Amino acid sequence: MNLILLFPDDFVEGAGHEDGGIVRLTGRRCRHVQEIQRAEVGDELCVGRIGGRIGRGRVIRIDADLLEMEVRLEREPPAPLPVTLLLALPRPLVLKRVLLGATAMGVKKILLFNCNRVERSFWNSKVLREDALPVPLVLGLEQSVDTCMPEVLLRTRFKSLVEDELADLAAGTLRLVAHPEAARPCPREVEGRVTLVVGPEGGFVPYEIEQLEGCGFSPVALGERILRVESAVPVLLARLF
Ligand code: SAH
Repeated sequence: MNLILLFPDDFVEGAGHEDGGIVRLTGRRCRHVQEIQRAEVGDELCVGRIGGRIGRGRVIRIDADLLEMEVRLEREPPAPLPVTLLLALPRPLVLKRVLLGATAMGVKKILLFNCNRVERSFWNSKVLREDALPVPLVLGLEQSVDTCMPEVLLRTRFKSLVEDELADLAAGTLRLVAHPEAARPCPREVEGRVTLVVGPEGGFVPYEIEQLEGCGFSPVALGERILRVESAVPVLLARLF
């Protein structure tokens, strides 16, 4: 945890002030500060308000399961990556890793979609529940010292995603679909916004690639080696931006 993410309910003073206040933490973050960071009264820790500024929190009180900090928030979070990531829903464990990693790299819009080689049961995963979905996102923000939560959208019908939504969603962006069989290499350090589609663990079926091509997406490859989804996503992002 390189940043302690603060939520409106944490503020006992200054909840409405963008430049700081007093916070009181319990639970996971409090334990982390005490057990991992081993902070003491007077120490300063990196903090950030969800959706807002980053700054320092000076510890003013520590008890068994209670931590109070005086918080000064002075700088803006890092700029987001100009990308929308469309990801075929992977299995739950991989999904958690990819969400954390993509969030840590600055992705702010993630759309999880269904297609032929996505297993139906993945859609019943607990990771997708409303209360569970923010967990890897929060961990990604805490990891990367950022405060802006990504938006995550779910689309269970590939056909209607491609036919009804994708043109608007990807309008004005460079449209790429990562596909190991593509002849064209993935471009490097591109200008402007990108819509990037990453396939399921079993890959896309030819019809799906055709549909995406019909919507203006160019298939691009990362080289001869086929990577796992959790590797392919950061490699693609690092190459594009
Ligand atoms: N057997 C599948 C492998 C899928 S890997 C196939 O041949 O398509 C899962 C996803 O990760 C792929 O759909 C693609 O989006 C991305 N990916 C993995 N390795 C890649 C590579 N070398 N080039 C481009 N995309 C890759």
